[in-house]
Amino acid sequence: MAERLKFWGWGREGEGPDDAALNRIAQSLGQRFGRELELVAPPRIDEIALRPPRLAPPPALREILSADPHERARHTYGRSYRDIVRTLARDFREPPDWVAFPRDAGDVAAVLDWCSASRCAVIPFGGGSSVVGGVEARLGDAYAGVVSLDLARLDRVLEIDRSSRAARIQAGILGPALEDALRPHGLTLRHYPQSFEFSTLGGWIATRSGGHFATRYTHIDEFVESLVALTPRGRLETRRLPGSGAGPSPDRLFLGSEGALGVITEAWLRLQDRPRWRARADALFASFEQAVAAVRALGQSGLEPANCRLLDADEAASAAGGSGEHALLLLAFESADHPLGPWLERGIEILRDHGGRVQEQSAREQSDDGGARAGAAGTWRSSFVGAPYLRDGMVRMGVLSETFETAVTWDRFATFHAAVIGAAREAVREHCGQGRVTCRFTHVYPDGPAPYYTVLAPAERGRELEQWDAIKARVSEALIAHGGTITHHHAVGRDHQPWYTAEAPALFRSMLAAAKREVDPAGILNPGVLVDVT
Ligand SMILES: Cc1cc2nc3c(=O)[nH]c(=O)nc-3n(C[C@H](O)[C@H](O)[C@H](O)COP(=O)(O)OP(=O)(O)OC[C@H]3O[C@@H](n4cnc5c(N)ncnc54)[C@H](O)[C@@H]3O)c2cc1C
Repeated sequence: MAERLKFWGWGREGEGPDDAALNRIAQSLGQRFGRELELVAPPRIDEIALRPPRLAPPPALREILSADPHERARHTYGRSYRDIVRTLARDFREPPDWVAFPRDAGDVAAVLDWCSASRCAVIPFGGGSSVVGGVEARLGDAYAGVVSLDLARLDRVLEIDRSSRAARIQAGILGPALEDALRPHGLTLRHYPQSFEFSTLGGWIATRSGGHFATRYTHIDEFVESLVALTPRGRLETRRLPGSGAGPSPDRLFLGSEGALGVITEAWLRLQDRPRWRARADALFASFEQAVAAVRALGQSGLEPANCRLLDADEAASAAGGSGEHALLLLAFESADHPLGPWLERGIEILRDHGGRVQEQSAREQSDDGGARAGAAGTWRSSFVGAPYLRDGMVRMGVLSETFETAVTWDRFATFHAAVIGAAREAVREHCGQGRVTCRFTHVYPDGPAPYYTVLAPAERGRELEQWDAIKARVSEALIAHGGTITHHHAVGRDHQPWYTAEAPALFRSMLAAAKREVDPAGILNPGVLVDVT
């Protein structure tokens, strides 16, 4: 039987590097930071004091509600650095009072009815992989109680329409189960966020998640053909259409609604045939600027590479075995339909035109899409998959390890990047004394990149949240001031709300608040996310 999910960190119990491996990493990082790093033990559930549930549920709902301490603790936080710091500090001061596991839409509606009538907040919960405080009940006593509404039991692919190449899928399904169900039909959603294994379709739709493909179909937005959402005012189902010009799109209102407007219970998704042809090349660049110019040219070439990931020299050293002197560009193409030799050739020409030194290249037919990749791309891929476990280990050793991400147009990129990485490095020096900030591009559009920054610094035990919040505030100010977005794919949640308020037009925010009042008159749905609590 599969192990239980950890209540405090990434993955299942027993998964991730063991203490011996973490101690080796602690030693080498300790040497770098000039201090001794000691591992704190992960929390055990019997060490956690949870306040008793503040309200009693109606008997009819008892069957789907749990007050089990492991479940309440697991649903208290998402999986950001801030969250792991608090779980390791055994700080679970605002757990949900109950965790609901609805079996069907009727159960979801019953929970919404009960909570609307008793002013109890409802926080929809998919995989709980939010990194922006999206699933956390940071509500004090403003509500009579809080229910975490976990959609894990709504986990099936219900219908496949082969001719339109689409499927009707329940919102609580996790990435691997979704792909397992589509594989026998030769189909794939081909949406792979880094959190794929422990995040759900409903969570992806509610947060407008970004998959790891660099261009073209990468946001979940592109795949949603229609959806069903349950609100306290009733059920809403949008029409299945390949496209429509009939007014503002109702799907779009729910994409990115982060549980504040309704509970997404199922959706029709556009699928793709499984890729057969692959081609890839890795190139080194003497300067980050040259590599950026190459990425822009590739992004505007119409080649639409599946991967076009640029790692600055420091990031290439830590994540892909680089020397620390060169920026690294990982370029890849995929197709279910045709060999990719010409695409690769033209891509390589562009890399060379911008000073890129091609290290490795290959173009072949390869139907196994889970297979090992060679060279720098292979090293990068395994560090990508293992990163969340390692991050938890680093927090255990007292290292600040967190990321922030954004997108900006090409005309602003150079000034923007200098200002943002400058602000981050200055804030890290000021609050941690030393540390490293690196950059990679996760997505590339014809009109601009989505840069993703990683911060690694020695933290002070007991002051981790204060340190990170100060750094995060400084970089968030810089992102907004220089024309970027507060988030390209991590969503708004509670953590980004002040900068979302600065980014989204005031009149639009009033429209959103009015829409929320219409579907959620008691204001119970994920309060404080997107729309301020009134
Ligand atoms: C290690 C790691 C890597 C990550 N990598 C990526 C990445 O590559 N790309 C990316 O986009 N994000 C990434 N994330 C962030 C996170 O995984 C995404 O935001 C993901 O879409 C959340 O899905 P979830 O099912 O875990 O949702 P949850 O975390 O459970 O919920 C997220 C938000 O959506 C709401 N919600 C969840 N389900 C529903 C529903 N059915 N109806 C209505 N509202 C709902 C919640 O209330 C909450 O506001 C990463 C996070 C971690 C920890």
